[in-house]
Amino acid sequence: MIPYGHQSLDESDIDAVADVLRSDWLTQGPMAPRFGRAVADYCGAAHGVAMSSATAGLHLACLALGLGPGERLWSSPISFVASANCGRYCGAEVDFVDVEPASGNLSIDALERKLELAEQQGRLPKVLVTVHFAGQPVDLAGIDRLRVQYGFKLIEDAAHALGAGFADSRIGDCRYSDATVFSFHPVKPITSGEGGVLTTNDPELAAQVGRLLCHGISRDPALMQGESDGPWYYQQIELGYNYRMSDIQAALGLSQLQRLDQFVARRRALAERYERLLAGLPLTPLARLPGRQSGWHLYVVRLDAGAGITRRQLFEAMRAAGIGVQVHYIPIHLQPYYRDQGFAEGDLPGAEAFYQSVLTLPLYPELSEAQQDEVVEALRQALA
Ligand SMILES: *Cc1c(COP(=O)(O)O)cnc(C)c1O
Repeated sequence: MIPYGHQSLDESDIDAVADVLRSDWLTQGPMAPRFGRAVADYCGAAHGVAMSSATAGLHLACLALGLGPGERLWSSPISFVASANCGRYCGAEVDFVDVEPASGNLSIDALERKLELAEQQGRLPKVLVTVHFAGQPVDLAGIDRLRVQYGFKLIEDAAHALGAGFADSRIGDCRYSDATVFSFHPVKPITSGEGGVLTTNDPELAAQVGRLLCHGISRDPALMQGESDGPWYYQQIELGYNYRMSDIQAALGLSQLQRLDQFVARRRALAERYERLLAGLPLTPLARLPGRQSGWHLYVVRLDAGAGITRRQLFEAMRAAGIGVQVHYIPIHLQPYYRDQGFAEGDLPGAEAFYQSVLTLPLYPELSEAQQDEVVEALRQALA
């Protein structure tokens, strides 16, 4: 089976991990802070904090932005469930902004209309989580205009978008957002096994996230109540978690980061090759939005209405041919957990139409041109 995504590891990655295994520190050593800083430096942000996953990063970003019960988080329905669950972890109400079916990214028009209505009803969101779907940046300038007007906080879920850019801004520099969160799960642009990094330009937010990922504990005398008892002393000053990244993971992430640009360039070349090879088939690639450099995390096509085959039939034919196609994503509001919160079919027509038509084709740096030809030949036969 040719999978839809796969990690690219080499001997330098294996050596980097082995070095940590031979060192004194498997966790809470120098590597996780170093990895957080390296990602922030790559993106051009002031601070970067490494943690156990992007899900943990989204949760802590929401907490540090003060999201709580009685407040609202809005997210994109075309994402992984973690983009919405972070609001529920904080006891907030979650709602969704519809997407543009051509790109799968949040619709600025839909956001503007929903904000107007919410203002009239006194139900404005405290936090918006936006996703750079498939690695292509959302219109950050458009969202920023509305952020200034309505005063919500913005978290970029950039799990797909390390190495991507919007105009002359690199995703993760937080020019338009309060925080950006990256994932290092093996299918993502680079991997640490499991892991996440939060970048921000707000020193207070970075410090608080750093405490929350380690139980809310601090050794900083300036933050303590009363005097320190001695050199061993720490205080728990708020309720935190164990969301640490180990040094083993961070070493892998640091080693992978050195090849990120190479990976993105290879993904782009393969994506452009797909576009040429698919011409003439009843498949439409995601719209390429102006002024964006995609990270090409996923190669998503939409099945045209008159194709004479359903998406399910196409999916099954591809799987039978040994091609590990996928569907990104089942709209979050249609998950049973969110239906129980009151959502139903028809609430977000753009997201639902998108879901009905999409198929993710294999794309990862080590996909060979011969394998890519095999994918296209299988599509040709299924669509014939
Ligand atoms: C993978 C992913 C996440 C979750 O990342 P983890 O590191 O596995 O927690 C969140 N959002 C999106 C859009 C993702 O693709």
